[in-house]
Amino acid sequence: MNDGFKQLKPYLDKAMAVQAALVLFEWDDATLAPKAAGANTSRVIEILSGEYFQAVTGEETKALVKECLENPEGLKETEMAQVKELEDQIEQLDCIPREEYQAFARLSSESVRLWEKAKEEDDFGGFAQTLQKVVDYQKKFAGYRAKEGQKKYDALLEGYEKGFSMKELDQFFGMLREELVPLLKKVMESKASIQDDFLTGDFPEEKQEELGRFLAEYVGFDFEKGVFSVSAHPFTTNLHNKDVRITTHYSRRVDSSLFSVIHEAGHGIYEMGIRDDLTQTLLGQGTSMGMHESQSRFFENIIGRSKDFWIPIYGKVQEIFPDPFEKISLDTFVRAINKVHPDLIRTEADELTYSLHVLIRYEIEKALIEEDLDVEELPRIWADKYEEYLGIRPKTDKEGVLQDIHWSQGSFGYFPSYALGSAFGAQIYYHMKKILDFEGLLRQGKVEVIREYLRENIHQHGKMKTTRQILKDMTGEDFDPRYYIRYLKEKYTALYQIAD
Ligand code: ZN
Repeated sequence: MNDGFKQLKPYLDKAMAVQAALVLFEWDDATLAPKAAGANTSRVIEILSGEYFQAVTGEETKALVKECLENPEGLKETEMAQVKELEDQIEQLDCIPREEYQAFARLSSESVRLWEKAKEEDDFGGFAQTLQKVVDYQKKFAGYRAKEGQKKYDALLEGYEKGFSMKELDQFFGMLREELVPLLKKVMESKASIQDDFLTGDFPEEKQEELGRFLAEYVGFDFEKGVFSVSAHPFTTNLHNKDVRITTHYSRRVDSSLFSVIHEAGHGIYEMGIRDDLTQTLLGQGTSMGMHESQSRFFENIIGRSKDFWIPIYGKVQEIFPDPFEKISLDTFVRAINKVHPDLIRTEADELTYSLHVLIRYEIEKALIEEDLDVEELPRIWADKYEEYLGIRPKTDKEGVLQDIHWSQGSFGYFPSYALGSAFGAQIYYHMKKILDFEGLLRQGKVEVIREYLRENIHQHGKMKTTRQILKDMTGEDFDPRYYIRYLKEKYTALYQIAD
């Protein structure tokens, strides 16, 4: 083993161990921990975060990274990739003065609390000043991170989706606006009526759980390496490739929990598929936010909302919920789970309107960072854009600008990943249709062939490959958003019988 790397390894191992502990606290906090534990647990988390920061950016670590880069003889490919990843993380953190970093950490935990309260009380005014401070910090940090000539918002995007700049995203979202807004209008004007009232009702939680577990396992979530629980907002977290955890939530809409489970199982399958020699290293995670979301949304929508997927298993739905599904045909069920319903809330959006929710957030956060848009203006701009793109206008801030946690935490540049992920998924889908009998496999209940292909080409590599490399190596093409538009057009013109 390379001598520098041998000395660096204990620091990396420590960082990974501390990270695993942090993840476990995060999971516990969202699922099982008693309410009163919060403040005391925060102290533990603060100390552990400091330890992680020290292991990654400490003077010894930095000196050893330099040593490895100057004397790379004998470094294996995966070791070199770890050193480079570490160099990257150091760059991101090290340019920020420690006092400012800590001051922001305090501000953001305060800000999340105030956001929760403001959302509950539907009072944006009570939160605006704090949010402005968060925005100002993020602009400052982006300024520290930006390379020469780089725009601030581009520097923030790098943190979530490396290799995608505002220039490309402007084109991407411009295309979505031009193509999807008119398509949505046609869908809403169409005479096709889609019945979905039967999806709402008294569905006992234990029955929803039974079906959720069945679906997670059916798409390939391995319960030997994963667990399933309940939390207010569904999420996935992982300690390593043999400990992956997903949650769901239950409501009167049965499809809400079922598709959450398939979505989170998609995230989980990605993490379980990472190679053993990469897990518990800096490379042992999905390569980007967008690629992660491409996998969860691929399982949820492209696979999970197709008729072929349900052909072998619709009987299971009817067996668990004879009322109402014994009387509902498979076709009626599939049409219902694909119904377009412009809604104010992003997380409840259908597949067609979803990216329009993201488009709105993209335009606004770009203006906040690049054009000094005043935070006070947000509720009005938000409502105007919803009216323009989705044809609905929020009456409260709770259903408007206060609905998402992201900005309160200082996560600017995160939202685009959700739309990009959907677009990556569509590109992957059209590629797979060329080389596999995609629909036929689903009809025969062979999801594992599709999953195995994704594992081979995407999941196993962790962060060894970038998103662009993965797309290129798999499909032979660079990222092309036209596949996504084509997918939505084909799907919804057929469903709503619209002449194209
Ligand atoms: Zn997701």
